[in-house]
Amino acid sequence: MERDDPGRVMQRSITTHPEKCTGCLRCALACSFRHTGMFNPMRARIHIRMDGPACDISFDDACTGCLACVGGCLYGALAAERQREGSA
Ligand code: SF4
Ligand code: SF4
Repeated sequence: MERDDPGRVMQRSITTHPEKCTGCLRCALACSFRHTGMFNPMRARIHIRMDGPACDISFDDACTGCLACVGGCLYGALAAERQREGSA
């Protein structure tokens, strides 16, 4: 599992802002529903852990980069990173 830092661009083109995370788990619900058909954060590929004033946001190896979690976040804690043309 990858530990995230504020503003770090994830390998899967998701930028995280843990300082904005409320711990609501909408992202995990969206992920689990997309991939299992159930609303069960325990089955999600994104993991939220309360860690002091900010949440720890991490993704496991099963993450496909589908961005469903980004769409589920209402607080700006997850953002899809736009790739520039010609960038690797
Ligand atoms: S990008 Fe898709 S697979 Fe990865 S954590 Fe988000 S919803 Fe789950
Ligand atoms: S990343 Fe967004 S949707 Fe997920 S727990 Fe944090 S605030 Fe909620």
